Amino acid sequence: AGFTHLFLLNALLLLIDTPTCTLELSEQHEKDKYLKASRWSHYTERIDQAVSAYRDCKNEPCSCYERVLERDLRVWNEKGGITDKNLKAAIPYGVHYQIIKHKLYRQDDCMFPFRCRGVEHFIFALIDELPDMELVINVKDWPQVQRHQDPLPVLSFSKVRSQYWDIMYPAWTFWEGGPAVWPIYPTGLGRWDLQREIISKAADQWPWDKKEDKAFFRGSRTSSERDPLILLSRKEEDLVDAQYTKNQAWKSDEDTLYRPPAKEVKLEDHCKYRYLFNFRGVAASFRFKHLFMCRSTVFHVGDEWLEFFYPALKPWVHYVPVKQDLSDVRELLEFAKDNPEVMEQIAERGRKFITNHLRMEDVLCYWKKLLHQYAKLQLFKPKRNKSYQQVRPKD
Ligand code: UDP
Repeated sequence: AGFTHLFLLNALLLLIDTPTCTLELSEQHEKDKYLKASRWSHYTERIDQAVSAYRDCKNEPCSCYERVLERDLRVWNEKGGITDKNLKAAIPYGVHYQIIKHKLYRQDDCMFPFRCRGVEHFIFALIDELPDMELVINVKDWPQVQRHQDPLPVLSFSKVRSQYWDIMYPAWTFWEGGPAVWPIYPTGLGRWDLQREIISKAADQWPWDKKEDKAFFRGSRTSSERDPLILLSRKEEDLVDAQYTKNQAWKSDEDTLYRPPAKEVKLEDHCKYRYLFNFRGVAASFRFKHLFMCRSTVFHVGDEWLEFFYPALKPWVHYVPVKQDLSDVRELLEFAKDNPEVMEQIAERGRKFITNHLRMEDVLCYWKKLLHQYAKLQLFKPKRNKSYQQVRPKD
């Protein structure tokens, strides 16, 4: 009987105790939630502000990039236009093209023939409507005309706005001439319109809840600014998987930060991870636009190196901004892991922007506006250089 009493008493105590226990648990839960929210309020407030200040651009092709073009051409508008002398002085800095009576002529020498073809593809698509003009198109990675010298009308795919006069044009890689990465992209990254489809399909296989809660980067050491992430990954492999691959300039393990080169990973296979890193390389890296198509959150390091479409993408709205020296990267990744819904929303806004506003028709539209506005600034009548051959479309 004593044993039964003891058993009943214990059962009673347990019954009385349960609500208190649940209450304590839910109180604790609320407390944790509050602490977490206040720990990250400096980020969540920035996100709220950025999102509420953001206005999506009009639905017309390339309408998001009007200001970029206006800013790049401003110096020539202020000078009253581009003279023959300006154009001639620019010739050593790029490939000299002439458009005369809807035909395209070019100096013989193009250091990167596939890049020239990637540029010419867009000019051919517009040539029937283009007025006569002369252009100097730089197909090297690096911009050419520093701000401490007089401006020259040179078109380049990427620049740091505060340091260069170059006028940005959509890079050749949207069509062809992108970097060849052995063995995954032996003939170059491939057409942007096709890559968009390939990566979107892969993204469908990796919805947010299936993705690994981890940061990811694969690429070569085109800039040592990438080193801190590689080093963090070596220390904390659960947080980040970031490794250096070979590129054509690879000579020894020194070029992969004293580890053997990692196996290359196709862009569509990046979609398996929630957080994808973008860094500048020699100039802006072509990977940036592709990463958004994965429906993963893009972590964009630094804000100096641009392509024509970068300024329309806004920090915290479309991507997570990371300091150039990566001093905040650990904290940002902790914030991401604590706030998956917030990260998913950034990923979704980024994907939507690139899907809706960086289509091939937006790229062609930017070329069109650029060439028409540039031609209007020309103060001389282009005269055909007889030593130049006519360039014809590939097919
Ligand atoms: N790339 C890739 N997978 C790899 C290595 C590189 O998809 O394993 C792509 C990368 O996304 C970029 C291009 O190849 O678009 C060149 O990358 P790299 O890091 O060599 O140079 P970057 O142009 O970024 O400076």
